[in-house]
Amino acid sequence: MAYNLYRWYADFFRNGKIDSLFLAKPHEIENAVGKKYNLGEVLGKHSNIYGTLKREEITLISENPIVVDELCRASNMCNTISGYNPMDYVYKECENCGNEVDPDEILMGMCSACYDEWCDEQEWEDDPIDD
Ligand SMILES: [Zn+2]
Repeated sequence: MAYNLYRWYADFFRNGKIDSLFLAKPHEIENAVGKKYNLGEVLGKHSNIYGTLKREEITLISENPIVVDELCRASNMCNTISGYNPMDYVYKECENCGNEVDPDEILMGMCSACYDEWCDEQEWEDDPIDD
């Protein structure tokens, strides 16, 4: 499925606002709406910008393939045009326990707790005699 150009606009009042342009596929938007995100201090020190991605914050700007193709090339990997691409920040589901966690925390498809557990199991299997 083809990419579209979207705008993400979210008001954080005293902290400022997020106003971004990015490329994404329609099903990626569908999956991301309703998910939590955490951008950290992107609007200044101690701003701690987080929330839940709302449908009304996302506007379809263009699905014109000529426009989108040009922007895809300009942004290298059909990603962020300006500001922040919410697709990079919405929480992802751990493939093991199903918890939704910050994408920075996902390692090999797992949340950090499951990953640690998995690592422990690996050690045990690699070294069954060593007690
Ligand atoms: Zn997990």
